[in-house]
Amino acid sequence: MSKSFFVLILGSGSAIPKKAKNHTSQVVIHDGKHLLVDCGEGCQIQLRKFGISLQKIDYIFISHLHGDHILGLPGLIFSMNLLGRERELTIIGPADIRKLVELHFSMAKGHCSFKINFVDTQSKEKELVLEEQDLKVFTYPLRHKIPTTGFMFVSASEKRKLKPEMLKKYDVPKNLRKGIAEGRDYIQLDGSSVSNAELTSDPAPPRSYAYCSDTAFNPDLQGYIGNADLIYHEASFLNRDAEKARDTRHSTAEQAGEIAALCGAKKLILGHFSSKYDDDDAFVREARAKFKNVEVAIEGQQYDVG
Ligand SMILES: [Zn+2]
Repeated sequence: MSKSFFVLILGSGSAIPKKAKNHTSQVVIHDGKHLLVDCGEGCQIQLRKFGISLQKIDYIFISHLHGDHILGLPGLIFSMNLLGRERELTIIGPADIRKLVELHFSMAKGHCSFKINFVDTQSKEKELVLEEQDLKVFTYPLRHKIPTTGFMFVSASEKRKLKPEMLKKYDVPKNLRKGIAEGRDYIQLDGSSVSNAELTSDPAPPRSYAYCSDTAFNPDLQGYIGNADLIYHEASFLNRDAEKARDTRHSTAEQAGEIAALCGAKKLILGHFSSKYDDDDAFVREARAKFKNVEVAIEGQQYDVG
């Protein structure tokens, strides 16, 4: 069975939050690992609302320093501390994010009970910022008013799938099955070999999720996140406000659809909606002019990757 890999939306709104449109944040969950992506105001409340333990989060990715993406961070860290956290926390984002965290503790004359590692991002080129055995995370530049990056989460190729009927046919001992899933042949007691291809089938292909935070229309994304299975792209505005999108370095829903089409994505999630709109379906309609498999981000909903 494939490892779990999905995105849970915590906030889908933009600068001014409103009911069911909280500031931007989401959790990427990969095989039990919890990675928080942006941390707008109310993030920790949303985590609790949707049953995610604050202490399970070991990585926080911050796309840029606008308030609707970071205002929840001091509160979240404050709560982790009060709850007696001991596990290290790693924050991956613009260098100035550490000032926000340190200011909070120095103003309150407080002490953080756990170690926080900071990994600085740059917004000039694609870069690997986290490498674990089964998951890699890259940043890539976006086009916004201040330095901003997206994040691409790429799961490693999984092990080959064992064929139970063939294991039974050749009476393969249980202690050898792990090695066979890793690609080894099976050597029988009489010395004859059974090829790995006979005992296993191809693994599920690597899966990837690209988070495109605040950005103007940016066709360069094709080079950074081409072939991502799932893309989240901001869609702050509808076409009637395209000029406003351009002026504020944001995107329309149709432009988000165009990016998903350019990148050959399987699915697109739209988010970061301006509080001036009430009709989610209008975003889907406009994006569908360029890309068919599109949904709006619904808070509390999970979206599978791949
Ligand atoms: Zn912004």
